Amino acid sequence: MTKIKAYAADNKDASLKPLVIERRDTLKDDVKIDILYCGVCHSDLHQVQNDWKNSVYPVVPGHEIIGKVLEVGAGVTKFKVGDLVGVGCLVDSCQTCSACKDDLEQFCENGATFTYNSKDKHLGGHTFGGYSESVTVNKDFVLKVPENLDPKAAAPLLCAGITTYSPLAHWGVKEGDKVGVIGLGGLGHMGIKFAHAMGAHTVMITTSPSKSEDAKKLGADEVLISKDEAQMKAHANSFDFLLNTIPVGHDMNPYASLLKRDATMVIVGAVEPLDPLHGGSLIMGRKSIAGSLIGGLKETQEMLDFCGEHNVVSDIEMIDIQNINEAYDRLKKSDVKYRFVIDMKSLKNS
Ligand code: NAP
Ligand code: ZN
Repeated sequence: MTKIKAYAADNKDASLKPLVIERRDTLKDDVKIDILYCGVCHSDLHQVQNDWKNSVYPVVPGHEIIGKVLEVGAGVTKFKVGDLVGVGCLVDSCQTCSACKDDLEQFCENGATFTYNSKDKHLGGHTFGGYSESVTVNKDFVLKVPENLDPKAAAPLLCAGITTYSPLAHWGVKEGDKVGVIGLGGLGHMGIKFAHAMGAHTVMITTSPSKSEDAKKLGADEVLISKDEAQMKAHANSFDFLLNTIPVGHDMNPYASLLKRDATMVIVGAVEPLDPLHGGSLIMGRKSIAGSLIGGLKETQEMLDFCGEHNVVSDIEMIDIQNINEAYDRLKKSDVKYRFVIDMKSLKNS
């Protein structure tokens, strides 16, 4: 075992602070990774605050990990020392159930192991995430990062990227479709970039008029201010697809009214109770509301390769680990442009 530096929260009200944690020795099928950068997802904040009532402390968040391979086990041929690699939200699964066989490890019927706050099968206790110096992961859960991408700006692809790419791909968004992305934060800005790259007519649906100009620069053809009833009415029954990244429970009725007949709104943001939905919002127009969770490993690699080909990365603000608590305060106020990424040198040099 190796002792390494990390940042952790001790309880739901605590600020993150330094903690020494242990990583397992590199096993036959393992890849040991020196963490260079780690994105800051709103899920990190939810877990620190125990919003989903399943947090185990100390919580070491972080599931948008980019790093260099430090060491590989004897059974690893796909990666070598020095490779640029990524780790997202998953570090293990049973690999035998029907979900795993269908490359949907995130829905593993025997319980996927998430990068943090999951049962650690090797060391006991629970898993610790990427706000740390290094991580040791089974080779099947390590991703190749295209070398043409800026590694800092590629970090958020590992969660925000795949979470938005997967539903757009699964629901078959295609050229010419009118696609709305709700909420311009970490997920939302990637949703707009992907929908735009797929050739859709993209509309950023936001509560923040001040973000309109940025939305257009990110690839939005139009901006719709969701608090403006007249604008919402003008777009009624017109969307082929909606991707909803709002991080809290909310009234979905106004958004459902934007869907065309037979169209779907996919919820990825609110992992908590949603306000009551009027049946008529779906019945009138045979509309659907669905959900989606990150993506499997195969699709995550496909998304990274798509990003390599189309030169898609995140718009990021770099921070030192020592500023993580301020970054969380800004996330709470929807004030992020559009993903914080931690430079892990700040942890290593501390
Ligand atoms: P984020 O960067 O904080 O962005 C969320 C955006 O939603 C905000 O910038 C804001 O955009 C909008 N918003 C916030 N509060 C709102 C409210 N009360 N009503 C309407 N709009 C609101 O968060 P994120 O990192 O993108 O994550 C979004 C959510 O997705 C989180 O809950 C996270 O846990 C979840 N998540 C889910 C998955 C999955 O697999 N399903 C994966 C990753 C994250 P505007 O200012 O434009 O309105
Ligand atoms: Zn995330």
